[in-house]
Amino acid sequence: MGRKVLVLAEVREGTLRHVSLEAIAAGKTIAEDGETVAVLVGKDVSGLKEELFHYGADRIVLIENEKLASYSSDGYSQAFLAAVDAESPNAIVFGHTALGKDLAPKIASKLNIGLISDATAVEYAGEHIVFTRPIYSGKAFEKKIATDSPIFATIRPNNITALQKDESKTGDVKTLAVDIKDLRTIIKEVVRKTSEGVDLTEAKIIIAGGRGVKSAEGFKPLQELADVLGGAIGASRGACDADYCDYSLQIGQTGKVVTPDLYIACGISGAIQHLAGMSNSKVIVAINKDPEANIFNVADYGIVGDLFEVVPLLTEEFKKLKI
Ligand code: FAD
Repeated sequence: MGRKVLVLAEVREGTLRHVSLEAIAAGKTIAEDGETVAVLVGKDVSGLKEELFHYGADRIVLIENEKLASYSSDGYSQAFLAAVDAESPNAIVFGHTALGKDLAPKIASKLNIGLISDATAVEYAGEHIVFTRPIYSGKAFEKKIATDSPIFATIRPNNITALQKDESKTGDVKTLAVDIKDLRTIIKEVVRKTSEGVDLTEAKIIIAGGRGVKSAEGFKPLQELADVLGGAIGASRGACDADYCDYSLQIGQTGKVVTPDLYIACGISGAIQHLAGMSNSKVIVAINKDPEANIFNVADYGIVGDLFEVVPLLTEEFKKLKI
């Protein structure tokens, strides 16, 4: 049975978030032989449509408006609900990003439907569409059968593989004019707290530091390793509380949830609240002086040693590999 699936194409600083391409792949699974329609919202974003087609969007609904230059839940909900009105989808998929987490519940409540949030997989079981999502801070996974109409889910970045890029793919673009009104919040300025670089929640490689780095300066060798590997820097709350780094880097139950291909934990003890944010990483390497540290219980590879000796050695070895 073919379904029509609407996928929010999330744009940040002029580029598509990779999770939106993963959402298209999830949309394709749900659509079967139906169509996956990307909803591209913003100001001056039409240049991104080719990329959406190349990654599997069958069609695009383009909503451009001066008032959508920056994200606001009022503005984006009006835009996306207009797309829902125009398209009557059977399913909706967003990325489980800060934007997705803010917007999806509002849209679900306006449509009076349920929301399956933070899904890590989507599949068929019989004629049902089943989403997998973590529960109990990632210690277990539940499977949820989607029964609402439309089905609505947000997907966790880095879990569902985007389709192979096919530059020959193209499709129709429908431009939707939406009169955005009654904005209760207006973004005047966006101030970045973290440095430029790879976004933590979408990073394929994360080098995370804990209280064991001992100072803000102690993050330097981690940054050098991250630069060589093209990774992002993360942190435990211990490191953030000690003022070694900004809270925007915090990973865990009350920080960001990440699932990179490689997570290198340096001087992190492995408290349950930290594990809640990273234990689903594909490969975990732990570097810790204490052989009894709990982080070794979730690590695929453990190095018992001083991070200030081990991390520079790793950096040197990876540099050689790159040549
Ligand atoms: P520590 O536990 O102090 O561990 C430091 C580690 O570094 C030790 O294992 C030590 O052996 C090692 N070490 C020291 N020097 C070196 C060296 N030179 N080389 C190698 N290893 C070295 N924590 C989070 O991370 N994220 C969260 O989201 C989070 N949310 C929380 C929510 C609540 C409600 C509560 C109560 C706590 C939360 N915490 C969170 C805090 C959590 O319980 C831990 O306190 C915190 O994770 C500890 O950080 P840490 O591992 O960096 O520090």
